[in-house]
Amino acid sequence: MIQKILIANRGEIALRIVRACREMGIKTLAVYSEADVQSLHVQLADEAICIGGPRSSDSYLRADRIISAAEIADVDAIHPGYGFLSENAKFAEQCESCNIKFIGPKSKSIKMMGDKAVAKETVRKAHVITVPGSDGPVESETEAVKVARSIGYPVIIKAVAGGGGRGMRIAHNDVSFAKEFHVARNEAEKAFGDGRVYIEKYIERPRHIEFQILADSHGKVIHLGERDCSVQRRHQKLIEESPSPFLTPDLRKKMGKAAIRAAEAAGYENAGTIEFLVDAKGNFYFIEMNTRIQVEHPVTEEVTGIDLIKQQIHIANGEKLEFDQSDIKFEKHAIECRINAEDPARNFAPSPGTIGLYYPPGGIGVRVDSHIYSGYVIPPYYDSMIGKLICFGATRKEALERAYRALSEYLVRGIKTTIPLHKAIMADPLFIEGKATTAYMEDFLTRTTPELFS
Ligand code: ADP
Repeated sequence: MIQKILIANRGEIALRIVRACREMGIKTLAVYSEADVQSLHVQLADEAICIGGPRSSDSYLRADRIISAAEIADVDAIHPGYGFLSENAKFAEQCESCNIKFIGPKSKSIKMMGDKAVAKETVRKAHVITVPGSDGPVESETEAVKVARSIGYPVIIKAVAGGGGRGMRIAHNDVSFAKEFHVARNEAEKAFGDGRVYIEKYIERPRHIEFQILADSHGKVIHLGERDCSVQRRHQKLIEESPSPFLTPDLRKKMGKAAIRAAEAAGYENAGTIEFLVDAKGNFYFIEMNTRIQVEHPVTEEVTGIDLIKQQIHIANGEKLEFDQSDIKFEKHAIECRINAEDPARNFAPSPGTIGLYYPPGGIGVRVDSHIYSGYVIPPYYDSMIGKLICFGATRKEALERAYRALSEYLVRGIKTTIPLHKAIMADPLFIEGKATTAYMEDFLTRTTPELFS
């Protein structure tokens, strides 16, 4: 049984894991960079070890130092959180070979689903429909153009190793395709060290709807419903909610079953997410699987009442899932707003600095997952997300009204944040009507004056 966990992450997710462990009576070891000495996860964990300099490549991405810290502190398991090494099959393998449990799937599943082309091939065999596109990576421009023409424009060129919304280019004809193909390959090579790209039909104005999966090591796989993550900027999620205002019970059932088949096809174990794009007619297409806990996991927790981090630890312990699909009830509506240290009035420029007055909202139906506090200095080295506001209620209307109310109370002085932007979205009729697709944000930003968000 796991008694001590190393948390190979920082920020709000590190804190989230510390909290789950504390409730379970499990000891925690925080590892941190020199820039994170003052971070709350370091203060609240039972032990902490500094593993290097501020840059991620000198600390949170240093598998060797993390494993050394795990051995020095004699932990049984490592929780990777999201980002950093969470989807690194080699790291999972290293943990496995050092006899340290990696709280996540087996390295084999990470490898399989981490290569987006292999992932698509795998789920197709399980009769899950994928976006029409190339069979695996495309090598030459001539071959690529042929594929693009046969699928029909517009197409999207995506990095096989892609993630975080990067490494994607859209082409509308042969001319733009030739240019974007090379740009995509160069970008992919730079960002991921793997220049391979594949091609997909570009679905216009889809919704991004994903299913949360839990799979134990005894072969049971269930889903915990969906999250609608259509509100995105540059392919990065800003708002997530559950249930999706678009899904009918029938479509939810079909997609849930497809998600379970996809997870089974990957031989999946632990918590994971199957992502789909859904067109206006309700056709749904698998795009990728995330083999880790996700930023937006709290909306699922609030709707189902299930603590996903604790479930991850139970599964890593080899325990059986205590519930069946029929036990999972979706009784509430939950919505999450990502609070980023960015200035939405100035094209989302990063806004690191020192937090002045800080007052997070509270009251009924409000949860704030955040590692910041008054006087906290946001280091410029990492992701700009400084917290997540999760609001829930009996209906979507109530959850949205609560979110608007909570955003009105939220005070983060000293830096710019996305709070005013979220407030404007919560009051936007199109969003309130549940009509947002992945094209929503671009449209919203062109019809709103940026000064509104300062
Ligand atoms: P990443 O791993 O970088 O997050 P995804 O494959 O999950 O990349 O896609 C991220 C977002 O990019 C999707 O939510 C969607 O908005 C957009 N996208 C990806 N593939 C397509 C597609 N074939 N058609 C239209 N939009 C797409």
